[in-house]
Amino acid sequence: MRLPVIVALLTLLVLPGSHAAELFSEDDLATARELRDRALSRDGGFDVVEDLTTRIGPRLAGSEADARAVAWAESLLTDLGFDRVWLEPVTFPTWSRGFERVRVTAPVEHNMEALAIGFSPATPVGGVEGEVVMFDDLAALQEAQAEDVSGRIVFIRNRMSRARDGSGYGPAVQARARGAIVAAELGAVGVIIRSIGTSTNRFAHTGGMRFDVGQRRLPAAAISNPDADQLERLIALGEPVRLHMEIDAQKTEAYTSHNVIAEITGANYPEKIVALGAHLDSWDVGTGALDDGAGIAIITEAGRLILDLDQRPDRSIHLIFFAAEEIGLWGGRAWAEAHHKNFENLQLGAESDFGAGPIYEIGARVVDAAWPVIEAIQRELEPLGIALGSRRASGGPDFLPSLPHGLAVVDLRQDGTTYFDYHHTENDTLDKIDPQELAQNAAAYAVLAWLAAQSPIDFGSGPELLEQERER
Ligand SMILES: [Zn+2]
Repeated sequence: MRLPVIVALLTLLVLPGSHAAELFSEDDLATARELRDRALSRDGGFDVVEDLTTRIGPRLAGSEADARAVAWAESLLTDLGFDRVWLEPVTFPTWSRGFERVRVTAPVEHNMEALAIGFSPATPVGGVEGEVVMFDDLAALQEAQAEDVSGRIVFIRNRMSRARDGSGYGPAVQARARGAIVAAELGAVGVIIRSIGTSTNRFAHTGGMRFDVGQRRLPAAAISNPDADQLERLIALGEPVRLHMEIDAQKTEAYTSHNVIAEITGANYPEKIVALGAHLDSWDVGTGALDDGAGIAIITEAGRLILDLDQRPDRSIHLIFFAAEEIGLWGGRAWAEAHHKNFENLQLGAESDFGAGPIYEIGARVVDAAWPVIEAIQRELEPLGIALGSRRASGGPDFLPSLPHGLAVVDLRQDGTTYFDYHHTENDTLDKIDPQELAQNAAAYAVLAWLAAQSPIDFGSGPELLEQERER
């Protein structure tokens, strides 16, 4: 057990039931409040996401825009005066969109607004045509007989439900992740899914598939929700419905991009790290403003607020702009692989990757001794409308590969009620971001990063956290 832990435990023993505000010095709390108030008087890093989405635009991992985004990030972070800025390599297979055309050919003609799903193969030139066979969800397709599917185009109609915490996404997205693989085994010729989003506008949603190397998959596209409604009505007429779909796409085996990392070097424990993350890549449609330009803006603003203080934090603070999140968490995987042996020095990981809506709750995965620190941090976030949540947290998608290694993580949970109206569509553009809400996010990340860096207690990443979880 480390000395600060013993001191803190003694404090708790001496002051049972106290607010444990004593965890932090008055100076550190005053600085946290100053960061919070200054953040709220600014625009949350709107200038950063404006520049990224204007100068670089959409930046699919492995595209020419990927390399421009990495150069943009490196020069931004260097110009802002971070103590160190460096790149770490991330290698992954790539996919790029040519075009997609989906139309109903019988019983009436109807053009559909569609987007190929990432890693969809191309159709043969001229496309494929077949009778539509509809399934409620992926599970229903998995139970289908080959004779009912063979030679046809599968349509999976599951609807994503709207929720503040985005919980409707997980169940519905199975159709996108696995539909084209399951349907290939059953002999279908193509797959169409209802968009995994909540918009009633005529924008289709893209996103990745989940497959093993060499696994056969069919050409697959998502159609906009109004088109999915229309397709269901056509099927309900009772006559055979036929679709024609044509997709052009390319893939490559390997491309090397980079995680871009910036450091504010800690004054007392430079080897100990508070890691804030966001992902630099986006899908190839829209301009990746909400996903995840907003996250890049939020953590950059939090970092520059702390850089502007006339002191350095006790621990180091890292901003990590992850590469290639959208096409398979490649940046997060590379970071976990490169750093997991050092996790005992990682105070926390926290990624902003859920748009620009206001944060309403903090949750954390930390050792028991550190939970009072999270409670104390929450008290400083309370004026921002942020409540105390549970001790279950993921840290965000790019920290998922680090969870099995015991990384302590914090979730600053955002209101995602409207996020999936825009996510992964042509409609994810800068105008969807409210600078005031962005500023609330930046305020919360600045307070979290500062107090976590000043905490007298380590959050317990690595073997200690894993052992405690086994015993719980
Ligand atoms: Zn994202």
